[in-house]
Amino acid sequence: MLEDQLLQVAKKFGSPVYVYDSERIAMQYNRLAKAFSNVSQLKINYAVKALSNLAILKLLKTLGAGLDTVSIQEVKLGLAAGFTPQDIMYTPNGVSLEEIEAAAKLGVQINIDNLSILEQFGTKHPQTPVCIRINPHVMAGGNTNISVGHIDSKFGISIHQIPHLLRIVENTQMTINGLHMHTGSDILDIDVFLYASEILFETAKNFKALTFLDFGSGFKVPYHAGDAETNIEALGKKLTKRFNAFCKAYGKELTLTFEPGKFLVSEAGFFLTKVNVVKQTTSTVFAQVDSGFNHLIRPMLYGAQHDIVNISNPNGRERFYSVVGYICETDTFANNRRITEIAEDDILAFKNAGAYCFSMASNYNSRYRPAEVLWHGGEAKLIRTQETFEDLLKNQVEIDI
Ligand SMILES: *Cc1c(COP(=O)(O)O)cnc(C)c1O
Repeated sequence: MLEDQLLQVAKKFGSPVYVYDSERIAMQYNRLAKAFSNVSQLKINYAVKALSNLAILKLLKTLGAGLDTVSIQEVKLGLAAGFTPQDIMYTPNGVSLEEIEAAAKLGVQINIDNLSILEQFGTKHPQTPVCIRINPHVMAGGNTNISVGHIDSKFGISIHQIPHLLRIVENTQMTINGLHMHTGSDILDIDVFLYASEILFETAKNFKALTFLDFGSGFKVPYHAGDAETNIEALGKKLTKRFNAFCKAYGKELTLTFEPGKFLVSEAGFFLTKVNVVKQTTSTVFAQVDSGFNHLIRPMLYGAQHDIVNISNPNGRERFYSVVGYICETDTFANNRRITEIAEDDILAFKNAGAYCFSMASNYNSRYRPAEVLWHGGEAKLIRTQETFEDLLKNQVEIDI
């Protein structure tokens, strides 16, 4: 999106506000699909937790995506957006047997990641085909919080437990129709990804009724000009070759599945804030915006460095700023950032604000969660209103004190 289009959105809907560019989402989807166009059956399941607005889900449906969900509520959102249960994968971690049974009842593809639940679910529902999330014990990912495939990780069934897993499958007579791995976010080294894939192929030889192999996600997207990103095209070439060879040896055309979140929506999103105060201190110049980590927690949570552009003065001279929020707690978005000169009331655009931004927003400091807008067909469409004071009171129960 262009700077004046973003300004237009801020003018029309106020700030703070999230804006998503539908064309950019389509571009990313098509780029991934193209990189794997030599696989006979490709399925791209969008990871709902990245950004779960119904308009985004519907947009991805029109592109041909399925969904990857991690809670029964995400499953229900997917169904509400018009996805069929067959197009929804349910990949929970550490949830109750009851929740998994409820999801199975809705008809979605179940993915189980521990032996205890596998044994219980298989005993009660041997007719329901299940996918298995394995842990290939590969160290990958950009940050320990988002690296989920290593040996200390709580995710997946260890590949060293395959004998026990096979015993459960045999005893319960359940069907394993898919194998899955998701080793973490921000994977840069595609050789690490390919190495983990080999472990998935090796494990797959133990199962006779597979219909798909799910390679998860974790593609790194660039955060600023010149930043590194996963080479999707090179991965497509190499993995396609290995996957097709595996299918040949396996004796059946399987579906190759991915479940990207960030890759599809991160760069499509912008978070627009207004500068309330420019505050000179003895050590820096703060630009204080009308938001905080209640709306965008990634910089404070895992040091994410979102590019920040002053779209009210895009061609001004550059100065150094510390961009902070209004939360009564340290609330830093960026330190020592070179940004074109900021005046009070200027609109700052945070980039890469599509994934894990609104979906992690809260009401901390009793602030409203912001509105969301989809830029679609050259028009700004409101897809979520800003919360109101009633929303803050809605679930509170008043008692006599
Ligand atoms: C979060 C998650 C994803 C998406 O990861 P991205 O880094 O956003 O692409 C995919 N699969 C599972 C199981 C997840 O938990």
